Amino acid sequence: MSQLSPGKTIGILGGGQLGRMLSQAAAQLGFDVCIFTDEPDSPAARVSARTFVANYLDAAALTDFARRVDVVTTEFENVPAQTAEILLTAGARVAPNPRALAIAQDRVDEKSFLNTLGIATPRFAAVSSQAELDAALPEIGTPALLKTRRLGYDGRGQIRINTPQDANDAYEKLGAPGILEGWCGFEREVSIIAARSANGATAFYDVCENVHSGGILSRTILPARVEAHTERSAREAASAVLGALDYVGVLTIEFFLMPGGALVANEIAPRVHNSGHWTIEGAMTSQFEQHVRAIAGWPLGATTRRCDVEMINLIGEDAQSWEACAAESNARLHLYGKRDTRAGRKMGHVTRLLA
Ligand code: AMP
Repeated sequence: MSQLSPGKTIGILGGGQLGRMLSQAAAQLGFDVCIFTDEPDSPAARVSARTFVANYLDAAALTDFARRVDVVTTEFENVPAQTAEILLTAGARVAPNPRALAIAQDRVDEKSFLNTLGIATPRFAAVSSQAELDAALPEIGTPALLKTRRLGYDGRGQIRINTPQDANDAYEKLGAPGILEGWCGFEREVSIIAARSANGATAFYDVCENVHSGGILSRTILPARVEAHTERSAREAASAVLGALDYVGVLTIEFFLMPGGALVANEIAPRVHNSGHWTIEGAMTSQFEQHVRAIAGWPLGATTRRCDVEMINLIGEDAQSWEACAAESNARLHLYGKRDTRAGRKMGHVTRLLA
């Protein structure tokens, strides 16, 4: 992959906060950013040089976009697979490659892929009807979670099945092809943010400890309370995934930390991730800059953590506390410029630099 020099244009599919922070990091390295989103007035568009507002399947708009950018990346994984195909046909360089996106979009393919690499996941079964759900339940056991196979995020599209009776009308409630997952009695949730450059070099950030509330990440703390062997297995898993996908860019794996320190992988995010926001102030190179470096064919930056750190998401009305957060001497406030506050919506985050 040839190296993009400053002044070239990076295209980002998606206009959310991840796109916004990617755009800010790209600007710092002298790149222009062009956003492609179906949402007018998006958080990313307001800090970027140019925006296309069109449907993700609008071939004419995508072809025009492909012509104006030097590389295309994504900030959310639910971009239709066809979008990447149209871009590739139009001659765009796309990183990470569309296979990574396709695997991460489908929870069954994702878990099967992880298992082929020897990475443990919760027990699972694909279910496409109530009869398949009924047949899978004895094998998976209860409690279990029924999730949509595709297009789920932040705990949406999930039904908990505590007893076999709970499964009776669960498939109808889900209303889409699903995955039945065995419940994992984890001790904590952790994630690893990793990066791979076009020449195969890899870099890993310290494992992050994550606290979720209602399925949404609320807090990330570093260092995570994990043993050295757990940290090592997170890196090994990330390294295997990056290599198998011939991946270029930043990728995240979310894990359940089991009693005793074993890791069970929950999902792969083929992108920068909320649990990596701490890297903006807490690491030598932020995950956003790292991703830009990788897709631009630059050498990866150092991932060294500068200090202990905590990141708190400002969700919905939490963002009203911006003034207090801004007044804290050891905190850095990030607001995403979203016009409407809604319950469960990520409006910003605060990073506290600790000892
Ligand atoms: P997901 O949408 O798959 O990321 O799930 C959102 C959250 O639900 C996770 O962060 C966990 O807290 C919880 N969760 C998901 N899958 C499982 C599972 N198999 N066992 C226990 N908790 C789970």
